[in-house]
Amino acid sequence: MEDILTIVVPCYNEEEVLPETVKELGVILNDLVRQEKISERSKILFVNDGSKDRTWELISEYSEKYPYVTGLKFTRNYGHQNALLAGMKTAVKFSDMIITIDADLQDDVNAIYQMVDQYLDGVDVVYGVRNSRDTDTFFKKRTALAYYGLMKKLGVNLVPDSADYRLLSKRATEALLQYQERNLFLRGMVPLVGYRSAKAYYPRKERFAGKSKYPLGKMLHFALDGITSFSIAPIQLILILGIITTTISILMMVYVLIEKILGHVISGWSSLMISIWLLGGIQLISVSVIGEYVGKIFTEVKHRPRYNIEDENYSMKMEKD
Ligand code: UDP
Ligand code: MG
Repeated sequence: MEDILTIVVPCYNEEEVLPETVKELGVILNDLVRQEKISERSKILFVNDGSKDRTWELISEYSEKYPYVTGLKFTRNYGHQNALLAGMKTAVKFSDMIITIDADLQDDVNAIYQMVDQYLDGVDVVYGVRNSRDTDTFFKKRTALAYYGLMKKLGVNLVPDSADYRLLSKRATEALLQYQERNLFLRGMVPLVGYRSAKAYYPRKERFAGKSKYPLGKMLHFALDGITSFSIAPIQLILILGIITTTISILMMVYVLIEKILGHVISGWSSLMISIWLLGGIQLISVSVIGEYVGKIFTEVKHRPRYNIEDENYSMKMEKD
């Protein structure tokens, strides 16, 4: 028996591209079945994220027409990341591997062949990585690069130039679903899962049709989410600021005293200057102390799994004895 693949596709107002997406993914799925690399029970699962156009009607039509097309419909728009999660959660019960891909065909569907081959070689996580950003604007290219750099400095491990196009094995998906956090930033969470991983390179294309569903505002929000969901480094910056301010206050004290001795000052100036700097420093340090606790609460409330075990033979041996 070959392994079952499910391709999860989030869709938000994608009526223009959907016919082409169904066609292209269908060709690949059937091809892989013919090559006996995946089971003929493999499926495409479209997650309709509260589309306001005919996306769901199309998904329903296609699922009647093709045995391998299935759909899941949200009550309203919950966002791309939630759509991906819902698709994976639904598919994991029946699938041995799951590939997530955007509906707009910007990511080359042919990379699916590489991903499946790598899975068959025993890899649990295959990241789709774009090896060119020629179709992105100069602005998007620069900001993306700066963002990966910043995240790295903040201690967040991302795979550069990979988005939400990837393959996960059943056990990797199950491990990912253990992460209970509400603020989803899947591309930051997947590397936390561990397991053997590989990369599948492909060129990124233009959107096949329709407009981007990620306008600049949404994009910035998502980027900030990535930082604040994964790093407490910004809180720790407050402590550094506090220490700097307190150091300045000590220097100020010396300066003010000298000025006072030399008689260059009017009354009230000395005490005012010292108070301003000293109080500022004390306040910043106090805020950072509270921040440290908030940071601890932040990591605790996520209830992330402490570890994922890849292999273990203790239980097996104990049961045999
Ligand atoms: N999407 C979604 N819900 C949303 C926004 C987007 O499911 O609220 C889907 C969309 O249909 C597409 C994918 O997420 O399949 C990526 O969106 P898009 O291609 O517009 O983003 P971009 O490639 O421009 O960053
Ligand atoms: Mg896109």
